[in-house]
Amino acid sequence: MAEPLIPEYVDAKKIFAQQAVIIGELPIARFERFCQSLANSSGTVSVSLRFYFDEQHKRVIEGEVAADVQVHCQRCLEIATIVLSESFKLGVVDSESFIDRLPPDLEPWICADNRLVLADVLEEQLILCMPIVGYHEDNCPRASGFKNRGDQSVSGLSGETKGQAKPNPFAILQSLKETK
Ligand SMILES: [Zn+2]
Repeated sequence: MAEPLIPEYVDAKKIFAQQAVIIGELPIARFERFCQSLANSSGTVSVSLRFYFDEQHKRVIEGEVAADVQVHCQRCLEIATIVLSESFKLGVVDSESFIDRLPPDLEPWICADNRLVLADVLEEQLILCMPIVGYHEDNCPRASGFKNRGDQSVSGLSGETKGQAKPNPFAILQSLKETK
């Protein structure tokens, strides 16, 4: 039951006018730059994207990426699976000079021609949500010596959760969503 694959790129002229919604998956191996920080490139990235014009007629991409990825645990150097999930809201502009005009809740994405490369958009989001230091969330063979070392550097998720090592990664994801 494979989900439909996400197109490599879309026509920026049409996609916002159509208020398109794209939901599907892409193989992690597709994202070469992202894979450089992983232990291997197995698995898929789940993606949902919504395209529309906002009230100020800005082109907006609202989306989510989620993937289970494998990294080398920085404590024990064995492979650890970490859960990535990120939602984002991008304002698509033609050039840097338009970035100032975007409302603050939109991250700029520059698309100079009509070819909006979704693979690049998604790769950027994946890289942004990678923890700086990956490690086993649970059951790390070498975790016991680290337990009471405080908080920094033990967050397995994105920067926003730094300093709040919580036992349940889904709780963190939920709180991330709520703050956006
Ligand atoms: Zn470990």
